[in-house]
Amino acid sequence: MPVSATMSSKVPDLQLADVQGQAVLLRADFNVPFDKETGEISDDTRIQRTLPTLEYLMREGAKVLLISHVGRPKGQVVESLSMRKPAERLKELLNFPVEFIGDVLDDGAREAFQKGKSQTVYVAENIRFHAEETSKEKSVRKAFAQKIAELGNVYVNDAFGASHRAHASIVELAEILPHYAGKLLKQEIDVLESLLTSPKRPLTAVIGGAKISTKIGVLEFLLNKVDTILIGGAMAYTFLKARALEVGNSMVETDYLSKAFQIVDKADYKQVRLELPIDHIASTEFSEKGKIKTMGREIAPGYMGMDIGPKTADKYSKIIRESATVFWNGPMGVFEMDKFAKGTLAIAKAMAKVKGTTVVGGGDSVYAVKKAGVADKMTHISTGGGATLEFMEGKVLPGIEALLSE
Ligand code: ADP
Ligand code: MG
Repeated sequence: MPVSATMSSKVPDLQLADVQGQAVLLRADFNVPFDKETGEISDDTRIQRTLPTLEYLMREGAKVLLISHVGRPKGQVVESLSMRKPAERLKELLNFPVEFIGDVLDDGAREAFQKGKSQTVYVAENIRFHAEETSKEKSVRKAFAQKIAELGNVYVNDAFGASHRAHASIVELAEILPHYAGKLLKQEIDVLESLLTSPKRPLTAVIGGAKISTKIGVLEFLLNKVDTILIGGAMAYTFLKARALEVGNSMVETDYLSKAFQIVDKADYKQVRLELPIDHIASTEFSEKGKIKTMGREIAPGYMGMDIGPKTADKYSKIIRESATVFWNGPMGVFEMDKFAKGTLAIAKAMAKVKGTTVVGGGDSVYAVKKAGVADKMTHISTGGGATLEFMEGKVLPGIEALLSE
């Protein structure tokens, strides 16, 4: 049977670029979280994960201008969202010189880069300090990208986490310059794509989190791909309610009841095993201070579901351990509170025992895996939140599409 070329094999590999002595404009995703009290970087995973690309470019003798956004400054200069701290962290992690040079349109910064040395990383200020970066007008983004493009002759995108955005440094810059996928971007595409196209079976998706509305696209797409879907988190209550079960005061998205019902029905038709929680940890309040009880399939009036119960955790864990491939997005409960974290931790531990491939995506899910201390047991932890979800909805991300063009 002929197999159509995968997206991954079509994305131009960085290895094909001759970057020696070249000025490389690298769009990375250094959008790291900062501790609210100290203002220090609280998790540098995204910086760490860009190191292979940077080390490669340095060894090959390139001069790199690293461009990233941090947070959502909305076209304003916001000091707390400066790239200075991420640049400092990179300096500690990389065995090559790193220098923060400031804004890409600033004459001094541009000159510093143009006169700069090979095998050095020059870090630009937060690209979203410019409203043009995220402008809805393509012509505005293009004009902005044009000014950035003057600084280099090769463009590399390693910012998977931002590649679902049609922004100037993601799309238009790639349209102007010879473009390549960085190692992290390539890895993300490889892993996520093979999950969708050639997974070892059984393939199980564990989907939880706060809102069904943000996961509906993924659920609908995965229904055509997976053998089993395990549902948890708040969205389980919309599903249970749709099946006419009592859910008490649990979070329910009433606008999505019929959609939830359709998904259950479609799963049945497609012979996909779709499991809903069979017991719950419920509380009278959205806090650890309320009256907390373990309940069966239904939730008593006055209580809200806060976590999957122990029977569900056992049942899901067993299914996960017997899977050859598992994709997980969305916590099983309000895991930020210890009393409602058991279900989520059980899933993380079960995933750690899988012999096959395990992939985790989504900001909170990744945090939960780290909290459970099993991050290094996963095959792949995706660096994208929204980008990962959109990829898993079967969408071609704008940043990837731009790399596929001539
Ligand atoms: P991810 O970032 O991994 O995609 P989401 O953002 O969709 O995950 O969901 C994470 C949030 O869902 C967490 O803040 C968690 O507290 C919340 N959540 C999970 N279960 C429940 C529940 N039963 N009731 C209310 N909120 C829940
Ligand atoms: Mg989240």
